[in-house]
Amino acid sequence: MSLDVDDTLVDYSTSSRAALAAMVGNADNWTLWQRITDDHCSRLLAGELEYESMRNIRTRAFFAALGEELSLAEATRRELHRQEVLASGWRLFPDVVPCLEWLRAAGLPLAAVSNASGRHQRVKIAALGLAQYFDTVLIAGEVGAAKPDRVIFDTACQDLGVSLGDTVHVGDRLHADAIGARDAGMHGVWLNRQGPREGALPTGVRAISSLAELPELLVCELSAASA
Ligand SMILES: [Mg+2]
Repeated sequence: MSLDVDDTLVDYSTSSRAALAAMVGNADNWTLWQRITDDHCSRLLAGELEYESMRNIRTRAFFAALGEELSLAEATRRELHRQEVLASGWRLFPDVVPCLEWLRAAGLPLAAVSNASGRHQRVKIAALGLAQYFDTVLIAGEVGAAKPDRVIFDTACQDLGVSLGDTVHVGDRLHADAIGARDAGMHGVWLNRQGPREGALPTGVRAISSLAELPELLVCELSAASA
């Protein structure tokens, strides 16, 4: 069993929006922030940027996109303030601990598979009391591959000693998590916390709107599918 972290276990978007608002004065440019962050995470994975400086360079690029040219020192100062606000706002979704307790009681080995860039993700996982539930934690910035790349899913299953075909991955991003896992040969489950959407799901992908639905999905549908 494999689980994404941000916006699957941790209400990342709410805390990250609040931290952005603390730095800028509002979160109106959230989409721009996400796009610039994703771009810089990709450059980190490609070896073009170092982890230590990536977030500061990202924040300077964000302000530059808003028309404000900052020194790297000033961008670093603002970024550190943002990170302080961010860390004080980390919260688990209320359905997380009951689900993890159920999975552990069911005896399923558990992996956390995150597309985060670096070690701050391990700090977050420990600070929120999540580390005790997981047999392995994979961070894209450490593995050198990010979802939907099958390498990170494959590495997770190797760490757990399970086969891809017997393993479920759940995450909030349809493409990176559910379709990526499916294409790697796993059972891909999309956690769509916004609830059911119009139209059919991609072939082989299942959807849930809460982690409270996961035990039933595992017991009923997926055990029947693999029987
Ligand atoms: Mg996520």
